[in-house]
Amino acid sequence: MPERRLFVYDRDRHSESHPERVVTQRRDQPRKFEDISKWQIETDVAIIGFGGAGACAAIEAADAGAEVVIFEVASASGGSTALSSAEIYMGGGGGTRVQRACGYQDSTEDMTHYLLAAQGDLGDEERIRLYCEGSLEHFDWMLARGVPYKDSEFKARAIVATTDDGLLYTGSEKAWPFRELAKPCPRGHNLEIEGDNGGPLFMKIMTEQVESRDVRIEYDARALCLISDDAGEVRGVVVRIDGEKVSVLARKGVILCAGGFVMNREMLATYAPETSQIATPIGNPFDDGTGIRMGEAAGGTLLHMNQCFLTIPYYPPSSLTFGILVNAQGQRFINEDVYHARIAAHIRKQVGESVYLIIGEKYWKEPNMLGGAIVATGETIEEVAEEAGLPVDNLSHTVQAYNEGAKKGVDPVFHKQADWLAPIESTFAAIDLTPGKHGNYVAFTLGGLWTRPTGEVRQMSGEPVPGLYAAGRNTCGLPRRAEGYASGLSVGDVTFFGRMAGRRAAHREGRG
Ligand SMILES: Cc1cc2nc3c(=O)[nH]c(=O)nc-3n(C[C@H](O)[C@H](O)[C@H](O)COP(=O)(O)OP(=O)(O)OC[C@H]3O[C@@H](n4cnc5c(N)ncnc54)[C@H](O)[C@@H]3O)c2cc1C
Repeated sequence: MPERRLFVYDRDRHSESHPERVVTQRRDQPRKFEDISKWQIETDVAIIGFGGAGACAAIEAADAGAEVVIFEVASASGGSTALSSAEIYMGGGGGTRVQRACGYQDSTEDMTHYLLAAQGDLGDEERIRLYCEGSLEHFDWMLARGVPYKDSEFKARAIVATTDDGLLYTGSEKAWPFRELAKPCPRGHNLEIEGDNGGPLFMKIMTEQVESRDVRIEYDARALCLISDDAGEVRGVVVRIDGEKVSVLARKGVILCAGGFVMNREMLATYAPETSQIATPIGNPFDDGTGIRMGEAAGGTLLHMNQCFLTIPYYPPSSLTFGILVNAQGQRFINEDVYHARIAAHIRKQVGESVYLIIGEKYWKEPNMLGGAIVATGETIEEVAEEAGLPVDNLSHTVQAYNEGAKKGVDPVFHKQADWLAPIESTFAAIDLTPGKHGNYVAFTLGGLWTRPTGEVRQMSGEPVPGLYAAGRNTCGLPRRAEGYASGLSVGDVTFFGRMAGRRAAHREGRG
C-alpha cells in the first residue's frame, strides 16, 4: 500500500493567536472509497484539467473506447497551454514534413543526442528516447487533428516566431558544445498564424477535437482530492461543482493534468526558494499545484521540485548577442549565443553579487525585454569597469582577449559562433542584470509527480499507485532543467505524454 502522510502541521493556524502546535488533516488527503455510499458521476477515466495534457489524454482515451469525463476548474478550456505560443519541439526520423520542405534532414539519433546532452544528469533517457522515436508520428497526429504548420522557416534568433512560419531554432542546437555532439537542426514547430497566437489556436483546435467525441466536460469543477481504497488503489475523485462536493467513480483511473505550481507562492518558496525570490511567475492562476498535492497525498512521489524553467528574455533584439556577459570578477562565463534559459541558468550559478552585459553602442538596441539597468557608460572599458564597480584589470583583459579573437572570427574560450562575434567597441556600456535587482526573470515549474513515461504515478519504491496517472506540468516530465530547455519541450511533453497516459488508462482493466 502506498505510504500516506495523514496529518500535516498547519502553518496558517500556528500563529500568535494559536500558539499551540496545531495538527490538522490535509484538505487534499484522499477520501476513503469504503466511506462513499453514493456516486454522483461514474465513468471509466476521469481527467483533471483541460489544458494541453488533459485535451490530448481525453482524445486518446476516448479513441481507445473509454468513457471519459474532464473536470476543469476554469469556465473554459485552455490553461497555460492557451497562454503559450504552443511551439512544439519535433523532428528526427528524416524530418517532419516542414523540416524536409525547409531543406533539413533530421535524424532521430541527433535529436536524441541533443536532448540527452541538454538535459544532462537530470534527463530521463527512456522518456527522451520514446519522445524522439515517436516524434514524427506525433507531428502527423497533430496534422490529422487539424493543427496547421506552414512549410517555411523563421530565420531570426527569437523566442517566438512572430510570423506564420512553421519552423525555427528554439534551443541551443547551433551553439557550443551541442553543435559538436549532434548535427544542428531546427525543431521548433510554430502554428500557421500571424503574431504570437499559437496557444489560443492550438487549444481551440484541441477543444473542438474533444467536443467532437463522446467526452463529457464539466467546467467550473475543481478537483479537491482523490478517492482511494484500503489497498491504496485510486478509485475516483471528489470534485466541487456548484458548491457541492461530487463523488466521481473512475473505473479505469484518474489522470491528473492540472498543471504546475508556479502560482502557489508557498509551494514555490518551499521547493524552489531561489527562483521564487528572483523571478516573476508565468502561467495561469490555477497553476497552484493542487493536482501535484492530490497525487502526493494518494501515495505519489515528487521529483525535482526545485527545477524551473527560469529565463531572461535576452533576445530579441538578437544584436544583444554581440555583447558579452561578465560576473562580479569581470570574467565571462558562457557563450552568449545559447538559448535564453541556458543563459539564465548560468547567470544563477555565478559566484559574487552581480552580472553585467558589456556591449558597444553599435549593438545595443532599445526597446528590449532584458529589464536591465544601464549602470555605466564610457569611452574606455576601464571607465566602465570603474563606474560599475568591476575589477578594472580583469574586465579590461576580458574585453581585450575577446576582441582579439572576435577580429579573427573565433572565441577560443567559450566558442561563440562566428556569426555573433564582433569586437566590442566604444562607446561601451555595462547593463546590470543581477538577479533579484534587475532583469526580467520569469519562471514556471518543471518539478512534479514522478511517473512512468506511460503516465503511471510512482510511489517511492518505483511501483505505480494503482489507478493514478498524470501528465504535463503536473509531472516531472521531459524538460527537467532550464539549462537544457528548448522552446517547445513543454507543450511537446504535455501533448505526447498526455496522449500516452490517456491510452494507458483507457486500456486498464476497469473496476466497478
Ligand atoms: C507565456 C507562456 C508561453 C509559453 N510558450 C511555450 C511554448 O511555446 N512551447 C512550450 O513548449 N511551452 C511553452 N510554455 C509552457 C507551456 O505552455 C506549459 O508548461 C504547458 O502548456 C502546460 O500544460 P499542462 O497541460 O500541463 O497545463 P495547463 O495547460 O495549464 O492545463 C492545466 C489545466 O488544469 C486546470 N486545473 C488546475 N487545477 C485544477 C483542479 N484542482 N481541478 C480542475 N482543474 C484544474 C487549469 O485550470 C488548467 O486548465 C509557455 C508558458 C507560458 C506561460
